[in-house]
Amino acid sequence: MSKVIDGKAFAESVRAGVGKQVEWLKSNHNITPGLAVVLVGEDPASQVYVRNKGKQTLEAGMNSYEHKLDTSVSEAELLALIDQLNNDETVHGILVQLPLPDHMREAAVIDAIDYRKDVDGFHLTNVGLLNTGGDGVVPCTPLGCIMMLKERLGSLSGKNAVVVGRSNIVGKPMAALLLKESCTVTIAHSRTADLPDVCRSADILVAAVGRPEMIPGDWVKPGAAVIDVGINRIERDGKNKLVGDVDYASCEAVAGAITPVPGGVGPMTIACLLHNTVQQAARQHNVELPS
Ligand code: NDP
Repeated sequence: MSKVIDGKAFAESVRAGVGKQVEWLKSNHNITPGLAVVLVGEDPASQVYVRNKGKQTLEAGMNSYEHKLDTSVSEAELLALIDQLNNDETVHGILVQLPLPDHMREAAVIDAIDYRKDVDGFHLTNVGLLNTGGDGVVPCTPLGCIMMLKERLGSLSGKNAVVVGRSNIVGKPMAALLLKESCTVTIAHSRTADLPDVCRSADILVAAVGRPEMIPGDWVKPGAAVIDVGINRIERDGKNKLVGDVDYASCEAVAGAITPVPGGVGPMTIACLLHNTVQQAARQHNVELPS
C-alpha cells in the first residue's frame, strides 16, 4: 500500500456516499437538503471557496443558495439575513464564509446561526457537544482528518497523538476528536518547550500551524501517520507553489502514512461540509440516515 493518503480519492468516495444519502432522503422523505452560503466582501480566496462549495453541493443533488453581501453591509443586516435563513425550511445548513470584515464580530455572527443549521461546527453548542460526547456537528477539516486516519489505521485507541496548533477551527476540535477515539493527546503550540521531542513521541502527528514546511523528517517517529493541514502559498524558483506545514520529502521518507499538499486534507474539507449538511437535514426532520 502506498504511504500517501490520497485525500482527493477519499473525498470522492465521501461525496458519493453523501449523494446516495441525498437520494434516499428525497425518495423516502421528500426532503432535499439545502445549504446557504453567505459571503461578505470580495476576498478572492473566499470567492473561490464559495464557488467550489456551491458547485459540489449541487453535484451531490442538494440545493445551494448563495448570498453575496457588500463589504459595507452592517453586522445588523448580516444578522437579519441569518435570522431569515434560520426560519427558512428549505435551508438545512448555513455557512458564513470567514474571515468577516473588521467591523463585524465573528463570534456574535456564528452564534446567531441556529446550532441545528450550523454546518461548520463552530457554534458554541456544537463545540460543547463535541467536548462532552454529544451528537452535534463536527468542524469539517478535523472531521476529514479523523476519517482519513480511521480509514488508514483502523482503531486509533491507545495511540499517542500530537496536534501542533490550538486554533478553534482546527487544533482544538482535532484534539477533541482524537481523544474521542481514545488516543493519548498532546496539543502543542508556539510556546511548547522542545517541540521536536514532543513531535517525535507521536504515532499520529497532525500539523495545523500555517508555517511552510516547518516540521522536518527528523521530528517524525519512524512509521508515524502524518496529517498535514497547512495550506501555505510560497514562491519557489520563480513559481507560486502550495506547501503544507511539514517538509514533505523528508517526512515522507520516515512516516508510515502521510497526506500530501495539495490533494490531502484540503479536498476532504468540502466533502465533510456536504456530509454535515445532510446530517443536519436528517436531524432537523428526526430521520435516521442509512450508513
Ligand atoms: P491559526 O493561525 O489560527 O493557528 C495556528 C496555530 O499554530 C496556533 O495555535 C499557533 O500557536 C501555532 N503555531 C504558530 N507558530 C508555531 C510554531 N512556531 N511552533 C508551534 N506552533 C505554532 O491557524 P489555523 O488553525 O486556522 O490554520 C492552520 C493551517 O491550516 C493554515 O495553514 C491554514 O491555511 C490551514 N487550514 C487548512 C484547511 C484545509 O481545508 N486544509 C482549513 C483550515 C486551515 P499559538 O496559539 O501559541 O499562537
